[in-house]
Amino acid sequence: MKYYSTNGNAPIADLQKAVVKGLAEDRGLYMPEEIYTLPKAFVNDMPGMKFQDIAYNVAQNFFGDDVDGDALQDIVYDTLSFDCPVVKVTENIYALELFHGPTLAFKDVGARFMARLLGYFLRMGSRGETATNGTVNVLVATSGDTGSAVANGFLGVEGIHVYVLYPKGKVSPIQECQFTTLGKNITAIEVDGVFDDCQALVKSAFMDEELNKHMKLTSANSINVARFLPQAFYYFNAYARMKALGLADELVMCVPSGNFGNICSALFGHEMGLPIKRFIAANNANDVFYNYLQTGKYEPKASVQTLANAMDVGDPSNFARILNLYSKNNALTPEATHHRITNLISGATYSDEQIKETMRQCYSETGYILDPHGACGFRALQENLKPGEVGVFCETAHPAKFKEKVDDILGIDIEIPARLRAFMEGEKQSVELSKDFADFKAYLMNQ
Ligand SMILES: *Cc1c(COP(=O)(O)O)cnc(C)c1O
Repeated sequence: MKYYSTNGNAPIADLQKAVVKGLAEDRGLYMPEEIYTLPKAFVNDMPGMKFQDIAYNVAQNFFGDDVDGDALQDIVYDTLSFDCPVVKVTENIYALELFHGPTLAFKDVGARFMARLLGYFLRMGSRGETATNGTVNVLVATSGDTGSAVANGFLGVEGIHVYVLYPKGKVSPIQECQFTTLGKNITAIEVDGVFDDCQALVKSAFMDEELNKHMKLTSANSINVARFLPQAFYYFNAYARMKALGLADELVMCVPSGNFGNICSALFGHEMGLPIKRFIAANNANDVFYNYLQTGKYEPKASVQTLANAMDVGDPSNFARILNLYSKNNALTPEATHHRITNLISGATYSDEQIKETMRQCYSETGYILDPHGACGFRALQENLKPGEVGVFCETAHPAKFKEKVDDILGIDIEIPARLRAFMEGEKQSVELSKDFADFKAYLMNQ
């Protein structure tokens, strides 16, 4: 499979280049040149298949040209060592729980898949041209959840070292222990600054010629094709489980969205022939996409802080992919594209007050504990489902990841899962650095 850039001004890339580079030379996002339709027989057979096998079929569709079949199967099976069950919440609303992975948030699948795919390319012996040593170094700046998913996804993968940069004192203790206690090939760098300083350090590192001669650098950003495409597995599996219950005839899929990578993978699934009737993108108070749906104008703005902070995004990166997909790579007018998008996707936007109200109402009426992100999805279905439709929303994080907030809103003492407690018992190891690039560079030049 070849990959082109959404900006249309970069050379076509193969999978390995798209994964290692992340962004194209023209700062565009990579898109697969073809999206193959899956055979009807496969779609019909899915309800009797297990998650890993459904996912392997989907993965072959995207990566089968580039990765040897047995290796791809290993990557998929190893990535999906946990389930993503569909759980009934009300008569016509089901939660797709994406939080049973190592860090209890949905980014685990993408991070684990990318780590294993990169590991495969390294083993194939096709290493980067400019590296002076064989190791590939992944730099990732985080305000919390991305760092933990990437660090755990890459933990122990040979030939790769991960540096997680995070703002000192500004991530929650639960999040911090998920990437500072791992050791091995994971180094946590505690930056005396804010998240934007961490991101600036990573960007400067990618642009520094001397540093890039010294070591092979790459990013595990969520725009990476190896991180976002595997998320399509969830939607095939969810469809299969709902179909087995006889509830898939008018299925509405609702995705709490921030950078829009997760919903974008669902839309790719739809293009591959997954019979989902329509989609809802549920947002917190960050309403740029919602406004685009209403007006046809995309007007990015600064993000606002909300209770559902992993969705605090004012200029979602993957919007470019959605536009490119429905404009058929710019073959259609903006109006025609907008029309196609609004025919398939609707939106919702909720304030912190509405999120809290929804969490309380859902808990008291059903006993189900929503996290603030999932709450946006649940509410959007409650407000938008039509007679005959059945809705599935993604529960993108375990509510215990936001224990202080959830306890406070619901007046409960939510139990922390054993996996999360285990991180909290580990010993914190971190390197403290200033926010000056000179310090960060000197540190990396010594590695
Ligand atoms: C990252 C994240 C989201 C948003 O996902 P996108 O793919 O960026 O739209 C939603 N919920 C949680 C818990 C997340 O960590």
